[in-house]
Amino acid sequence: QSVKLIAGNWKMNGLAADLNAVVQDLKAALQTEPAACRVALCPPATLIGRLADAVRGHAIEVGGQDCRAETHGAYTGGVSAEMLKDAGATLVIVGHSERRQEFGESDLLVSAKAEAAVAAGLSPIICVGETLEQRQAGRAVEVVREQVMNSLPHAVTGRNFAVAYEPVWAIGTGLTPTLEQIEEVHRAVRAAMLERLGLGGAPAPILYGGSVKPDNARDILAVPEVGGALVGGASLKAADFLPIIRAA
Ligand code: 13P
Repeated sequence: QSVKLIAGNWKMNGLAADLNAVVQDLKAALQTEPAACRVALCPPATLIGRLADAVRGHAIEVGGQDCRAETHGAYTGGVSAEMLKDAGATLVIVGHSERRQEFGESDLLVSAKAEAAVAAGLSPIICVGETLEQRQAGRAVEVVREQVMNSLPHAVTGRNFAVAYEPVWAIGTGLTPTLEQIEEVHRAVRAAMLERLGLGGAPAPILYGGSVKPDNARDILAVPEVGGALVGGASLKAADFLPIIRAA
């Protein structure tokens, strides 16, 4: 399998001083012992330029947490994919469940955002995942499959995007699916990707997200079809994020 991607999603957390501290520790540790995986941080938009400056020449990638589907215009507060790219990002998360839930983002909108990201030269990390209610109704695989089929734009090839499977009920709760459940959904995601993209869909990594911590990362990352992790809370401190990077 290809090299894994460990991405930190800071959500709405972190000021310049917090970023400086984490990046300093990450750079020092990865200089001493290079990571065996790709490492990315997705800080709030306000910190993207600062992060890009700080990691220039280091093997740490920079990502946004969302972008608008439009390229420019009268969208007060909006950030376009091109703006993220211009600030130094190479990745952008789209369709995170917090945005799907809080802002009512549909698969169609997520697909448009991912398409805009690719057009701007960014690699989207397209998020999918079932709610607890859907899991309990036995519909997890069906729901996630549907999200993958409808959230992948035509512009993606296996080499310019990733999918992140994040069960909504596992985010920020300390709960995780069993390794068997993770494998079942990841296999379904891969099957849907291949159906949508043909064999070209094979190289794109499928990340797992939802309460990934230093003590469960190794087991989760060893599950077949798990191509990395999207890490929330445990990416805010180098002391938590580094062991996860080392587990990949
Ligand atoms: P936690 O790792 O805090 O559960 O968050 C996961 C997540 O939503 C990453 O995008």
